[in-house]
Amino acid sequence: MSSRAQQPSQIWDAALGELQLQVDRTAFETWFKKTDGVALNDGEFVVGTETAFISEMLTKRMSQVVERAVGHVLGEPTSVRFQVLTHADNPANGQSDDTQPANAADTGANGDNSQAASMANAASSHPAPAPFASAPSLNARYTFYRFVVGKSNELAHAAARAVSDNPGNAYNPLMLYSEVGLGKTHLMHAIGHQALGKGIDVRYTTAEDFTNEYIRAIHEGTTEEFRLRYRSAGMLLLDDIQFLIGKEQTQEGFFHTFNSLYMSNVQIVITSDRPAHSLKILSERISSRLSSGLSADIQPPDYETRMAILIAKSRQMSVEVSDEVLEVLGARIYSNIRELEGSLNRVVAYSDLMQRPLDVELARQIIADTQEANKRRQPSEREVINAVSEHFGVDTDTLRGPKRDKKTALARQVAMYILREDSAMGATAIARALGRKDHSTVLHGCKTIEREQNINANLRRSILEVRESLAAA
Ligand code: ADP
Ligand code: MG
Repeated sequence: MSSRAQQPSQIWDAALGELQLQVDRTAFETWFKKTDGVALNDGEFVVGTETAFISEMLTKRMSQVVERAVGHVLGEPTSVRFQVLTHADNPANGQSDDTQPANAADTGANGDNSQAASMANAASSHPAPAPFASAPSLNARYTFYRFVVGKSNELAHAAARAVSDNPGNAYNPLMLYSEVGLGKTHLMHAIGHQALGKGIDVRYTTAEDFTNEYIRAIHEGTTEEFRLRYRSAGMLLLDDIQFLIGKEQTQEGFFHTFNSLYMSNVQIVITSDRPAHSLKILSERISSRLSSGLSADIQPPDYETRMAILIAKSRQMSVEVSDEVLEVLGARIYSNIRELEGSLNRVVAYSDLMQRPLDVELARQIIADTQEANKRRQPSEREVINAVSEHFGVDTDTLRGPKRDKKTALARQVAMYILREDSAMGATAIARALGRKDHSTVLHGCKTIEREQNINANLRRSILEVRESLAAA
């Protein structure tokens, strides 16, 4: 597979296909998942990563195998550099990308896979975007290039494109809204990558992080620095604004930031899991500002778009999945694309682990299992705390108490994490449930567990066991 794949993302996908066979699964998931090919300059291939830590680990531990894999794809020895792409000053010569995206809308609407195939094809055969810089919190893979366009998301996609082409002037603010898992964050990051490529100083944050930062600034008396940090932005991306509902003080802070940026024509992009009119519960001033821009929604994907996404994803994973199997997966109605991706990942992983052929029967079985799992109800606060207490041998009073030895602290953090992920409780409620004063302790705990479980198999196993005991209850 040499000379045809020349775009950095395509080269990298092909190399990942080889790496997947050579690196153990956990390491692969940990180190490679959020990377993307970013540039090829004079025999040097640049791989973008999310954090300096990941770059460092990849450089130390994986350089040789990566160089070999990339060398095979390119058909010549190539050196590889890992780089966390933080600011617009990255090496990659950032011309912007003019890829015409694949479009399902003008392909007609009957469920014919050849159309889906050509959508997916178009998505990957167009020139990949020029190398972007990306802020640490932008996912390197959330680019326009990897976004499959169909009827359900073409409006939001077109608006995101327009804003990328003409930041500050096309639609300001742009608000993207949809149910969870339909591509808001992906599109928002894609706008961010493009803007960074143009040298714009992009600030990406979630409303939750914004809130925490703001509250900390108030406590520490550094609101002035806080304001400056945001007010010097060349573009503001605020993810999941619904989080601000009910947080009057933070809304106030946000409104001032928003306003001064807006007044200086700085592009603002916001995502929300509900339409603008139900954000009215935000302060009057914010919602009237929001309605002065454009709000574009994303609907759940139709059959063709689902097929196109499955085709694109299976190519990116460099695995052969037959049309029949993709059809079984695509035929199900998914309310969200994460689940759709998840079903493909599971089928591939399962066939690999169990040495079973990747066939229709396996696909059906996996789908049935998933539907079963989805029916499971959310565990209650008490159930989670009891299960964690049991698993770690730390009684519930101790979990809620002041003790901070290693074992107790770990059990407590696992409880925080599971309460948040599986019981969908907010950080403040979790803090209360576990006798902590401050929700930021909870956020810190959840982040720690998220990070740790990538590199700690024992922890992963513990979490799985707690979850299994909850599911069995
Ligand atoms: P949201 O922010 O709306 O909850 P995300 O942007 O996190 O959703 O998307 C969920 C997952 O689905 C991500 O892995 C994303 O890359 C993928 N995804 C969503 N829409 C598309 C699309 N149109 N093409 C390819 N992948 C998509
Ligand atoms: Mg999101």
